Amino acid sequence: ETKNNALMSIVSMEEHFGCAIADITTGDCFLTEVDKPQKLLDEINKFVPAEIICNDSFYMSNIDTDDLQNRLGICVFSLDSWYFDDELCRRTLKDHFHVGSLEGLGVGDYDCGIIAAGALFLYLKETQKTALSHMASIRPYSAEKYMLIDSSSRRNLELVETMREKQKRGSLLWVLDKTKTAMGARTLRSYVEQPLIDAEEIEKRLGALEELNEKPMERDEIREYLNPIYDLERLISRISYKSANPRDLVSFASSLEMLPYIKQVLAEFKSPLLTKINEDMDPLTDITSLIRNSITDDPPLAQKDGGIIREGYNEDVDKFRRSRTDGKKWLSELEARERERTGIKSLKIKYNRVFGYSLEVTNTFKDLVPEDYIRKQTLTNAERYITQELKDLEDLILGAEDKLYALEFELFSSIRDQVGAEVVRIQRTAKAVAALDVFASLALVAQRNNFVRPKINETGLIDIRNGRHPVVEQMIENDMFIPNDTYLDNHKKRISIITGPNMAGKSTYMRQTALIVLMAQIGSFVPADSANIGVVDRIFTRVGASDDLASGQSTFMVEMTEVANILRNATSRSLLILDEIGRGTSTFDGLSIAWAVIEHISNTKLCGAKTLFATHYHELTELEGKLSGVNNYCIAVKEKGDDIVFLRKIVKGGADKSYGIQVAKLAGVPDPVINRAKEIVEELVTADITGKVKDIAVQGSETKKKTQKKLDEVDLTQFSLFDTVKDDDVLNELKELDISHMTPMDAMNKLYQLQNKLRNRW
Ligand code: ATP
Repeated sequence: ETKNNALMSIVSMEEHFGCAIADITTGDCFLTEVDKPQKLLDEINKFVPAEIICNDSFYMSNIDTDDLQNRLGICVFSLDSWYFDDELCRRTLKDHFHVGSLEGLGVGDYDCGIIAAGALFLYLKETQKTALSHMASIRPYSAEKYMLIDSSSRRNLELVETMREKQKRGSLLWVLDKTKTAMGARTLRSYVEQPLIDAEEIEKRLGALEELNEKPMERDEIREYLNPIYDLERLISRISYKSANPRDLVSFASSLEMLPYIKQVLAEFKSPLLTKINEDMDPLTDITSLIRNSITDDPPLAQKDGGIIREGYNEDVDKFRRSRTDGKKWLSELEARERERTGIKSLKIKYNRVFGYSLEVTNTFKDLVPEDYIRKQTLTNAERYITQELKDLEDLILGAEDKLYALEFELFSSIRDQVGAEVVRIQRTAKAVAALDVFASLALVAQRNNFVRPKINETGLIDIRNGRHPVVEQMIENDMFIPNDTYLDNHKKRISIITGPNMAGKSTYMRQTALIVLMAQIGSFVPADSANIGVVDRIFTRVGASDDLASGQSTFMVEMTEVANILRNATSRSLLILDEIGRGTSTFDGLSIAWAVIEHISNTKLCGAKTLFATHYHELTELEGKLSGVNNYCIAVKEKGDDIVFLRKIVKGGADKSYGIQVAKLAGVPDPVINRAKEIVEELVTADITGKVKDIAVQGSETKKKTQKKLDEVDLTQFSLFDTVKDDDVLNELKELDISHMTPMDAMNKLYQLQNKLRNRW
């Protein structure tokens, strides 16, 4: 209900993809075109349709359809080539939308998209067997209009569900969603999944929110009116499909009744977006009156058992109903009237199973029988007659129930069709209601959580003062969340290398920055004291190492695939969140990769994206001052004896310790292991391995070739690292021997001793 259920049609043509998406339960229909398989994947990830239909050449476009099926559960299905016939597709769309030219629909420029949409409609008509009249418009959109977020970043940032439990609770949507209607919930979800990149559009949304918060009473009043509104989009679809029952129509009317109230309150708002919403919102009073005047307040679910039509709406219905109860009265009234008219005192209405009702006149009064009496039956001492009026009454009484039910259903169907004919007005209104619901929800959330209106710029500056993580701050009790600043620009502060102990809050800080930027581009207020957000075209995140066993890739392979995607697609307007790149492999390989990645990103000719880079390779802090745009930050901790206290505050400079062992201790790793780890660290530090690495890292900036050579050398030593340390005392002893003053016997004894030492160890 709170999520769209889409069918996607994809047509691949000469390096181009047409893509049409429809949700038949709401009548939504979109169309777009993209030029690269990666962009198409982005669209698929954005909508995650239940089913994809495609032409054959789509299978040849490097997109792994098995992966779509296995990972996202999308059923991919190729259709015969005739579905994608240009002429047929154009005709199908023109016929469906009753237009003479496709330009009128605003899709004239989308050659490929038109074919995708045409095939989609052909397929829908074939499978749904209805006119699909609720699919009354098709909206072209440019994939470039929205911020692109690839599937792993969507997952990592936990936009609509959490990574592990796949639950809404704990996601950004969970914080933002206080919508009152199912339509609003779906719309908010699509806003979260498709942040804007047009500063003007973003400002419009922010303006609406600001005004709603300037008038909180009115905002809350609107929310009250939104409360009883049912899912108009799905209801109108059911009405079009003729599957809506009488109760659905009543729910529909009771929802529509709220519209005039909402419009009245909305009239006081001046911001362009809210004014537009008010304009788009048709009060639909004609439809409400139609339903209210015709359908009873509490009709049954069943459509064919009567009790649907309100009294006074249709004379025949009223008559049929009355005939059931009033039949006897009418007969005796007719009898009395006829007696009086004819003067036949013995005239009686009789009933017979075979002949039905008749007027019985005893033979004595035979002469008084009027012209319009039709003889029906002769008895020994009486004649039985019928009149047109009696016949009608008989029909009424005898067939009343059946006829009543049939008529009620017929009337109900016609009312449903009349409502269905207004699908365009209703859908436009439903969209307006949904958008209003979203803005009222975002405004309320902003007020409750102390979010501020971000400034939007196009210079690339991201300046967040005292920013907070919108979700983590809700999870932490007693307002204990520590806010932090973020400053990134397109010049000297492009890349922040963030070091700090485990658990210090590096990931939280980086995600918080990404979420604040994303929220601003959704048009939401943000959790900070102030924020100036330069619009970004893409957010990439590479957070943690996650296994993807289902796809048959190793942890490190997944990590590197994501890094490859980022490096290929990030632009100078992108925001990258890179958390511990390279940790999935050996220290030196990992460090070199991390190093090279930063080098690549910092090169404005190759990438130049704004980047937050968290790492435990403290050697990388050497890059500050050596690579342009790189700055060191660390998250402060305080040592207290053997333990550490997390301050959670980001400060300038690099950290020099990881405190991994202290964190392991906090996590409950057994003491013997902790103590042994401390010993090993001591030994490693004495051997100054880190120093070696640092040297290489610094030299590495000179030429890549040299670096590689050095790293190759060190890589070899890496294998003998522990050997060296373990053998140290033996070696030291050996080194200290004064051989010139030793007898051959002493030398033999010493050698024997040292050998024993080694043998004991191995
Ligand atoms: P690791 O290096 O082990 O991945 P990390 O430095 O990335 O650790 P996070 O996972 O970001 O650490 O944070 C650990 C926990 O610290 C969070 O789950 C959160 O509860 C808490 N935390 C992080 N930042 C803050 C903050 N600013 N204020 C209060 N608590 C915070």
